[in-house]
Amino acid sequence: MDSYYRLLKNNAEWASSQVAEDPDYFHRLASHQHPEIMWIGCSDSRVPADRITGTEPGEIFVHRNISNMVLSTDLNLLSVLQFAVEILHVKHIIVCGHHNCGGIKAAMQDESYGLMDQWIWNIKDVYRMHRAEIESKQGEEEKRQLFTLLNVKEQVLNLAKTSIIQNAWNSGNYPHLHGWVYDVRDGVIHTVFEMPAGTEIDNIYKLNRKH
Ligand SMILES: [Zn+2]
Repeated sequence: MDSYYRLLKNNAEWASSQVAEDPDYFHRLASHQHPEIMWIGCSDSRVPADRITGTEPGEIFVHRNISNMVLSTDLNLLSVLQFAVEILHVKHIIVCGHHNCGGIKAAMQDESYGLMDQWIWNIKDVYRMHRAEIESKQGEEEKRQLFTLLNVKEQVLNLAKTSIIQNAWNSGNYPHLHGWVYDVRDGVIHTVFEMPAGTEIDNIYKLNRKH
C-alpha cells in the first residue's frame, strides 16, 4: 500500500474513534481555537510538535521551517507570529531546535544545495557570531550540539527584536519566550534559554513608537 494512502485510512479511523469517545469533539474544535502556545520548530519529520509534547489539536499554533529560524524577511513566519500574538494572544512562544539537524549540519559544510543555500546562509551567520565558542569544542558532535543550542538562543533573541513582540511586551505581560532543544536520540526536550515577557534587550534593538 502506498504510504500516502495509509494516512487517509488512519485519518478515517482516527476521526471515527474520536467521535465514538466524545461525540461533541469536532463540533467543539470547529467553532474556534484558543491555543496558549506558539511553536517554532524544525521541519524535520522526527520532531512533530504535538506528538512529542503530548498536546491535542487546538493547543499549539505551529510554524516550522529548516532549523527553526526566525528571520526578519520571512513573511510566512512574521504573519504566523503576528496572528499568534495579536489575535490569539498566546502566552508562550517556544523555539525548539533538535540534535542531528540537517540544516545545522549543512551550515557547517561548504556543499551547495541550490536555492536552499540562501536559507542556510542565515544559519551560517549564527555560526560566525559564535565561531570562537563553537570551535573551542573538541569533537564534531560537541561542536554541532553547541551550535544547535546557540542557534535556538539567537532565534529567541530574534523574536524579541520584532516590533510584534516589543509592542506586546509594552502593552501587556505576554508572551514569554522559550528556547528548547529536542534530542532525537532519546526523545527528551531540554530547556536552554528563557526570555520572560518584558526582558530587557540590547538598546540597539529597542523600538519606541513616537507617533
Ligand atoms: Zn532540523
